[in-house]
Amino acid sequence: MNADQRGCKRDFDWACVSWRSSMLFGLFLVLTWWSASATLAVAAPADKLMLPSDYVKLIPLHVKLSAPRPSDWLAQHAEPGQTFRQYLRNRPVKVDRKRRTLYIQPLGEFSQTQKKIIDATTEFMGVYFQLPVKTREGLSLDLIPPAARRKPGVFRSEQILTTYVLYDVLKPRLPRDAVAMIAFTTSDLWPGEGWNYLFGQAALKDRVGVWSIHRNGDSDAGDEAFLRCLRRTLKTATHETGHMFSIPHCTLYECNMNGCNHLTESDRHPLSLCPHCLAKICYATGADPVVRFQKLILLYKAHRLKAEQAFCEKSLAALRRKKKR
Ligand SMILES: [Zn+2]
Ligand SMILES: [Zn+2]
Repeated sequence: MNADQRGCKRDFDWACVSWRSSMLFGLFLVLTWWSASATLAVAAPADKLMLPSDYVKLIPLHVKLSAPRPSDWLAQHAEPGQTFRQYLRNRPVKVDRKRRTLYIQPLGEFSQTQKKIIDATTEFMGVYFQLPVKTREGLSLDLIPPAARRKPGVFRSEQILTTYVLYDVLKPRLPRDAVAMIAFTTSDLWPGEGWNYLFGQAALKDRVGVWSIHRNGDSDAGDEAFLRCLRRTLKTATHETGHMFSIPHCTLYECNMNGCNHLTESDRHPLSLCPHCLAKICYATGADPVVRFQKLILLYKAHRLKAEQAFCEKSLAALRRKKKR
C-alpha cells in the first residue's frame, strides 16, 4: 500500500500483504488513498509526453499493466499511480553530497545458502541503484522485545513487528552518510493487528525499510529453488529500496514497483523497472541508465538470470538507437 500521509511523520509502504480485515485499516486505506489522490492525478494516456526523451525510447519494450485478478493487489487496494513528472513535484528522497550510501543491516541468523543470497543481493543493489553499498555488522533478533513479536499460529512462524524494526532498530542507527538503510531478516514480518504477513515494508520519506527472506522458498532445495529464491529476494530488496526513494507503487506498466498481494502475483512481476520508474531511480540516484544496463547485463549473466539479461540487452540497444529524422 502506498500510504502517503501528508502531515504524518510515518509514511509507509506495505509491499505485499496477504489480507486485511479490520474496519480501522479499511478507514485508513480510504483516507490514505484520498490523501494521495489529492495530489497525484491518474496518469494520462499519452505518458510519453511526461518522460525525458531517452526513456521514451524504452516504452515499446514494456507491457501495460493488465486488469488485476480478484486476489491481486490492485483488486484490493485503490492506488492512483504516479508518472515521472508527478514524482518530481513530490520532492522525493534522493542522493545528495552527504547522503549517498545504501546500508544493509542483517537482522537475525542466516544459513550458509541464505548468506550467499544476501551477498548476491548486496552486490546487485549496488548495480541496480548505481550507489555504494555497505553491509553493517549483524544484529540479533533478541533486540526485538516480546511486545513487538506475534506468537506462532497454525499456518505461520513467530513474526516481528515491522514498525518496531523501522523506527526503534533502524532509525536511531541511520548513519550520517546513508541515503537509505534496509534491514534483511529471516524472520517473518507483520505490520500490526488486522494483517496476516508482509514480504517487506519501507518508509517513503524516512530512509528506512525492512525485507524478509522467510517466504521466498527453500534456497537449499537444489539449483532451481536457489535461483527462484534469489530472484524473489532481488525483487523485494529492490522494490523496498525503490520505496525509500519515495517511489509509490506503479500502476502504469508491468514493473518491479507494482504492488503485490501474494507470492504468485510477485512471481508474475518483472525485476525490471518501467520507463517511468527507471527515470525516477536515475533521477534520485544520479545513475546513468546506459551504464546501469551495461553493468546489470554482466551481473545477470554471472547469476544465470537469462530472461533479465536479455531484457537489459534489448533496453540498452533501444537507448543507444538514434532518433529517426
Ligand atoms: Zn511496495
Ligand atoms: Zn513502473
